Amino acid sequence: MSMNKTGRPTTPHGDYAPQSGGETFSGSRGLAQQEPLLSEVGALDKCGVDFAPLPDVTPRLGGMERTGEIGLPGLSEPEALRHYVRLSQRNFAIDLGLYPLGSCTMKHNPRLNEKLARLPGFADLHPLQPQSTVQGALAVMDALSHWLKAITGMDAVALSPKAGAHGEWCGMMCIRAAIEARGELETRKRVLVPESAHGTNPATAAECGFTIDQLPADASGRVDMDILRQKLGPDVAAIMLTNPNTCGLFERDIRAIADLVHEAGGYFYCDGANLNAIMGKTRVRDLGVDAMHINLHKTFSTPHGGGGPGAGPVVLSNRLKDFAPLPYLCADDERWSLVEHDADTKEEARPFGRMSAFHGQMGMFVRALAYMMSHGADGLRQASEDAVLNANYLLARLKDELSPAFDGVCMHEALFTDAFLKDTGVTTLDFAKAMIDEGYHPMTMYFPLVVHGAMLIEPTETESKESLDRFADTLIALAKAAKAGDRARFTNAPMLAPLRRLDETRAARSPVLGWEKA
Ligand SMILES: *Cc1c(COP(=O)(O)O)cnc(C)c1O
Repeated sequence: MSMNKTGRPTTPHGDYAPQSGGETFSGSRGLAQQEPLLSEVGALDKCGVDFAPLPDVTPRLGGMERTGEIGLPGLSEPEALRHYVRLSQRNFAIDLGLYPLGSCTMKHNPRLNEKLARLPGFADLHPLQPQSTVQGALAVMDALSHWLKAITGMDAVALSPKAGAHGEWCGMMCIRAAIEARGELETRKRVLVPESAHGTNPATAAECGFTIDQLPADASGRVDMDILRQKLGPDVAAIMLTNPNTCGLFERDIRAIADLVHEAGGYFYCDGANLNAIMGKTRVRDLGVDAMHINLHKTFSTPHGGGGPGAGPVVLSNRLKDFAPLPYLCADDERWSLVEHDADTKEEARPFGRMSAFHGQMGMFVRALAYMMSHGADGLRQASEDAVLNANYLLARLKDELSPAFDGVCMHEALFTDAFLKDTGVTTLDFAKAMIDEGYHPMTMYFPLVVHGAMLIEPTETESKESLDRFADTLIALAKAAKAGDRARFTNAPMLAPLRRLDETRAARSPVLGWEKA
């Protein structure tokens, strides 16, 4: 018997090759399949399961019950499964590659954390279970609080905020309550916010009823101290300062800033979303901070992006801790309880209120504590050191081809401007789109607003030197191509993504949120 001696063909046959950017018959691009909306593929009369006929009941909806069809398209189980698996393959994720979004800390999420968060004893809890049955979960929250206070040196922590911005709101509400307790709510109305701040900072201050006064940056990208002194006065409620700031720079004068604000009778809110740069190196308490949120989903790893999940606990100084929101955790002789009601609080406590139905994001608490305990104090410090080292490595490798925004070293993220694209006809946005063709999620673009055409790169500590080198080589090659006049590579990009360039402005200004049959 003769055996087949030729294996699978390894070279392509024929000369048909769709042009990059060319159209296919199916609309799919390779094995990245075209995916219609559920409404386009599902049928109204189709249902994936058998329902028993409805019993005859008398509705008690006061005439509000639906009389027509619900109008949702039905799918079989494999159709539904494929739809969502295909969509999931359209996503870029930290599990696929380097995700250099500045101010987002997209680091690797250790699988150990996921495993622990999925333990039924944590994952299957109900927030309304009797407290005696969730002592282990409360002990986890207590241990997490201990770590957060130890890392920052602060006096108290409120765990209920469910995101960074929610944490800002919590901290600013504590400040508002403290000002109210001093009888100064009518007069202390102004909150100072540097122009490099994350957009959530001024939004939070406004939401809490304050007016916003912008602080310009000096030539080194930091708070301009002379202007700060001029702006301080008896009507200043607080400063909201990010450290390291969103230019990736440590605010060198932060102690002096805290003292000046305190002398003027105001409070110091620190945006701590960038803790990844200073964890284990800088004690927040020593900086004079009164309130600071910590984005557990950034520094302490959790898959995030696209709106969730998040957790933004707020550490508080002695001056603010009595105003922390309900519910809060009490530990008493190895018994843990959540104080839920104003009437049950200790004498000195004057909670400003309740921010959400329950106590916070349990799954995130477990992940964060697992991250902390598996790293240990020395490991957390090293994570910060490596995050800063990686950002500076990229800064050093890219500084001759791209344009660093400021001189000197950076913290955990490196900021560039679009000066290197001057006269090339290539915009910051074009450059970002060309990165997609190269397999990279773009860095944060056009933020912070203090420099022109900002490109903010945060590699995080979890990228290897090889990965950073591949990334730097790609950016250098793109920058050289732009300068050599290869405009088509940029203005038509992305050419290899499932979808080409979208009208992002129109999508944001007039979003189409409903579907109508064509
Ligand atoms: C991410 C971030 C925030 C907001 O955090 P969310 O969890 O997205 O609400 C605020 N400030 C800074 C500096 C950030 O990086």
